[in-house]
Amino acid sequence: MGAGEATTCLRVGSTGNRCLNFSDPFGLCSEEQRKSGGCPQKGDVADVQKQTWVNPTGGAVRGCDKQGCGNFGAPRGDRTHAGADYVARTGQDVVAVTGGEVTNVGYPYGDDLSFRYVEITGSDGYVAREFYIQPGANVQTGARVQAAQVLGTQQRLGGRYPGITEHVHVEIRRSGRLIDPTTLIPNPVP
Ligand SMILES: [Zn+2]
Repeated sequence: MGAGEATTCLRVGSTGNRCLNFSDPFGLCSEEQRKSGGCPQKGDVADVQKQTWVNPTGGAVRGCDKQGCGNFGAPRGDRTHAGADYVARTGQDVVAVTGGEVTNVGYPYGDDLSFRYVEITGSDGYVAREFYIQPGANVQTGARVQAAQVLGTQQRLGGRYPGITEHVHVEIRRSGRLIDPTTLIPNPVP
């Protein structure tokens, strides 16, 4: 790595206020870079890595039903399932899977604007989207949320997808690449 790269911002997304100005959070910098302030100190590394993850509904990942399977990578015609589906009761509270800034409250379906998703960009660059949430009044772009904070209530899917297991769909990306949410989000406590 060149010396100039040591000031690359680790942070992605639009928050901006938690840019850590380090490109090497895992202790790979040289002693010279460390002394010059170009590499993170131990406390900074802990700060970078502390983003926590929680289960959005308390449910397991849904299995298979007539609408398909709920696991990451499951077949969906000519594509694959980009997230994991966490089983929910219709209308139950849904919590933030991680903390960060709300960077979008969007619409998954152009033909039905009643359905919404909430996008959270965390301090270490993970971007999580939680689908089929009626967002609370305070859940707006630019708001800060904590992991496990209630974002809103689950929106019933059975009208659009007859026979489907009600759920919240979670997608997680880092640097634009999809990640299997189950590698970060804990299973429910049995
Ligand atoms: Zn899904």
